[in-house]
Amino acid sequence: MRGTGRDTMHHALHPLAAYWSKRDFRRTPEPKGRLRRASGMPRFVVQLHEAHRRHWDLRLEIGGVLKSWSLPVGPSVNPRERRVAIPAEDHPVQYASFQGTIPPGLHGAGRMLLWDAGTWEHLAEGSPAEGHARGRLDLRLSGSKLRGAFALFRPQPGERSPWVLVKLEDEEADAETDVVALRPQAVRRVARRQNA
Ligand code: MN
Repeated sequence: MRGTGRDTMHHALHPLAAYWSKRDFRRTPEPKGRLRRASGMPRFVVQLHEAHRRHWDLRLEIGGVLKSWSLPVGPSVNPRERRVAIPAEDHPVQYASFQGTIPPGLHGAGRMLLWDAGTWEHLAEGSPAEGHARGRLDLRLSGSKLRGAFALFRPQPGERSPWVLVKLEDEEADAETDVVALRPQAVRRVARRQNA
């Protein structure tokens, strides 16, 4: 098994170890968080992050954490527009209600607002965790701005390879609306799932 030591180490760590190691919780308003056992519909959130480079953070609740991707251009509801989604470290589920400003000098410094939030379903066979590991998730999002079927997939293998987010054709698809430009404001309330 020579050569796999690094991977073994990585997977032996707590799923939130990378998240925790990048942050000083005495200084950042972000939640320290913890693993949460799945119950009810899994949550999703998109946070507009006015960091050094503005981007949109897409997070899906999978396996007790928020699997996370950073979208430099933001999501689209036009099936013709593929959006790059760069994988980021797992975030705690408690992060789905975070909105605030990370002070200058800290990791991710800048304002973070809740651009969209809701629940999601996995439309493909197999568990979301398997789909995530394989690099293909078929989503039905039930948010305020993002609704209906989306594909989120990794065209090239490799844990750090970029993914692609694209809207699939359905009644929620809209080739005329630039949802990021037309609806920049935060959602007023975060959908709370039962038994949260
Ligand atoms: Mn971010």
